[in-house]
Amino acid sequence: MVERFQSFGLATPPAPRTIPADDAIALMKSGKAKKNALLAFGNGRSYGDSCQNEAGTVVDMRPLNRILAFNAETGLLEAEAGVLLSDIIAHAAPYGFFPAVVPGTQFVTLGGAVANDVHGKNHHRRGTFGCHVESLTLLRSDGRTYHCSATDNAHLFQATIGGMGLTGLILSASIRLMRVHSLDIVEKATPFRDLGEFFALAEAADQANEYVVAWIDQLAGGHGRGRGLLLTGNHAEHGSHKAARAAARLSVPFQPPFNVLNRPFLTAFNAAYRWTKGRSSVPRHVGYHSFFFPLDGVGDWNRLYGPKGLFQHQSVVPEQAAYRAVPALLEAARRAGQGSFLTVLKRFGAIHSPALLSFPRPGYTLTLDFPNRGQTTLELLNELDRITVEAGGAVNPYKDARMGAATFAASFPDWQQLETLRDPAMLSDFWARTAKKLNARRGTVEAAE
Ligand SMILES: Cc1cc2nc3c(=O)[nH]c(=O)nc-3n(C[C@H](O)[C@H](O)[C@H](O)COP(=O)(O)OP(=O)(O)OC[C@H]3O[C@@H](n4cnc5c(N)ncnc54)[C@H](O)[C@@H]3O)c2cc1C
Repeated sequence: MVERFQSFGLATPPAPRTIPADDAIALMKSGKAKKNALLAFGNGRSYGDSCQNEAGTVVDMRPLNRILAFNAETGLLEAEAGVLLSDIIAHAAPYGFFPAVVPGTQFVTLGGAVANDVHGKNHHRRGTFGCHVESLTLLRSDGRTYHCSATDNAHLFQATIGGMGLTGLILSASIRLMRVHSLDIVEKATPFRDLGEFFALAEAADQANEYVVAWIDQLAGGHGRGRGLLLTGNHAEHGSHKAARAAARLSVPFQPPFNVLNRPFLTAFNAAYRWTKGRSSVPRHVGYHSFFFPLDGVGDWNRLYGPKGLFQHQSVVPEQAAYRAVPALLEAARRAGQGSFLTVLKRFGAIHSPALLSFPRPGYTLTLDFPNRGQTTLELLNELDRITVEAGGAVNPYKDARMGAATFAASFPDWQQLETLRDPAMLSDFWARTAKKLNARRGTVEAAE
């Protein structure tokens, strides 16, 4: 099968041109890479166009997949940027270590996790992935390889973490892993009747648990509106130290010609999920796959959205504003008649990332997935942007395929600092659609002044 370099939402076209990492490295080292010509591609688990460069060429970083060093005493691991998180877990688990931050899929590369400064269910305790990066090596189109850390080329270190591939090619990184009792998780599900009840539980849950996340039954109306389950987890004192096989147990073998995740399906799915997870509040011992990466169990599940794919919208709003903004976001989706397959709500903590631009900030983050129904979905997403920005919040760029420049600027007022350190050879469709437009407008205003 020919590999497609497409992002996970499938709503944007696959990259028209790709080159292997080694060729791109040779080109960069020669100093002959053209302006805006390249962009690193990790494993395409970003939902939108931040890992794509339609006018240029994307660089397949996955062949750089060696673990270079591991200190089994301290948990410091150095690996090439194309190594998958699943491989890091498998390597470190027997020694009692686990990544301090994991996103909802283990099929992301080390470079992708750094470049998006990803977050997990324990943001309140560990911050973002970038908080655990000791150092990285970065190749820029001036032909030089930079060793970057908090003390060495610190400006490039900060810009590259969360820099969405725009500062150059990350060749390798050293990360600090976290010591855990075991890989297994003691999980507890606490049902809540509405958002008020969730907000009352959330902070105390964060204080008591390593991992906390809430699932919302977004389709429930009437008395059930805002109901959901608060899922908490902690590494089990006694459990497995062996990583399970990373392969999906089931997979979607072809792309159906329409969206299978329609309203009746979603209603049934939500009811089944609520029943399965919420039928008992007694803590239970579960494997780490089931707790952290449930969607990885079904390969290519994004295909169920049909050929038009899906949009994910992730917002974060400050705590005080969240009590109004989160219900307003859910209500806007309900009013638009758009069901979200998985709706996740989480409280972010106050731990600062070293990144120049990073999505997480203190407050509540809501994630919604919508099938791409064209204009009606785009209008809803604009409305969700509006509510988020009005509440003083931000929209996640690496989940996005359509936000306007103004939403981006409101979400990341410091974007210009990244533009200043952008490698001239690197560009993404996301950056062209947002920051480059803002820059062009600024230029026009400055020229007129
Ligand atoms: C099911 C699912 C669940 C998810 N859950 C979460 C979650 O809980 N939290 C969260 O934060 N995210 C989550 N995500 C998003 C995902 O974790 C991020 O988008 C991740 O960064 C993707 O990594 P990737 O290796 O696939 O990189 P890609 O998506 O291919 O690229 C991501 C960015 O990194 C850059 N990049 C990649 N490699 C390099 C390199 N070597 N050098 C320089 N730049 C590079 C690319 O240019 C791009 O800008 C989820 C995604 C899925 C599909």
